[in-house]
Amino acid sequence: MINLTVNEQPVTVPEGTTILQAVRAAGVELPTLCYHEGLAPYGACRLCMVTITAPHHGLVASCAYPAEEGLMVETHSPEAVSARRLALEFLLSRCPQSEVIRELAAQEGVTASRFGTPPPERAEELCVLCGLCVRVCREAIGAAAIGFIGRGMERRVGTPFEVQSEACIGCGACAEICPTNAIKIEDRGNERILHTWHTTVELHSCPECGRYFAPEPTGFLKDMFPEIENLWALCPECRRQRTARQWIEQEHTRAT
Ligand code: SF4
Repeated sequence: MINLTVNEQPVTVPEGTTILQAVRAAGVELPTLCYHEGLAPYGACRLCMVTITAPHHGLVASCAYPAEEGLMVETHSPEAVSARRLALEFLLSRCPQSEVIRELAAQEGVTASRFGTPPPERAEELCVLCGLCVRVCREAIGAAAIGFIGRGMERRVGTPFEVQSEACIGCGACAEICPTNAIKIEDRGNERILHTWHTTVELHSCPECGRYFAPEPTGFLKDMFPEIENLWALCPECRRQRTARQWIEQEHTRAT
């Protein structure tokens, strides 16, 4: 176990814990955008900045910095607060229309950005480049269908050549994890349209009720779930009903 302090409060955490996890274990709130406990740390949004005051001094992204024995961490030192506000000014400048960013900024006392507003063609931008969609697609789904494109002000997330992605299975994990709702996905009839990725996938219909509910399993997804033809082919509601029926039948058989 590792012993450290957060805002002078002693905390003991297991080996392999990050400072952010230790801060949260101490009951201290820190905002994050690019962090997800199920994915590798990325340290992109700079909202979780903290100051280490001993045994050395430094300003670090707490999500990507390992907790160490004897570390003394300050979450609201003037430099940590200032770094967080600066990051929020950048985010506000990039995505002034984002409710999430505006709320986070307001919580830190930031209501305007000295870095101006985006050009008219990007006035509606909601993507904060946190990379969660890219990482969940690669690390959790195993599809690696999207990635970062361009540099500087032109940096964005997209599919290779920004055309229909053959690697995308249409799972929707990217939209689910996006903290600013920047990824637009729509189910229309037997298709799932991933507007942001210029990609359309076919939807699978439930063999019992006929409702289209999930992407047609293709490629590696079909290999991963050989039983897809059976229970997993049903929509969640029919699956629940069939499981309940099977359970009742089993109980009835056991009782007679
Ligand atoms: S919907 Fe496509 S891009 Fe999004 S996580 Fe799934 S495979 Fe990746």
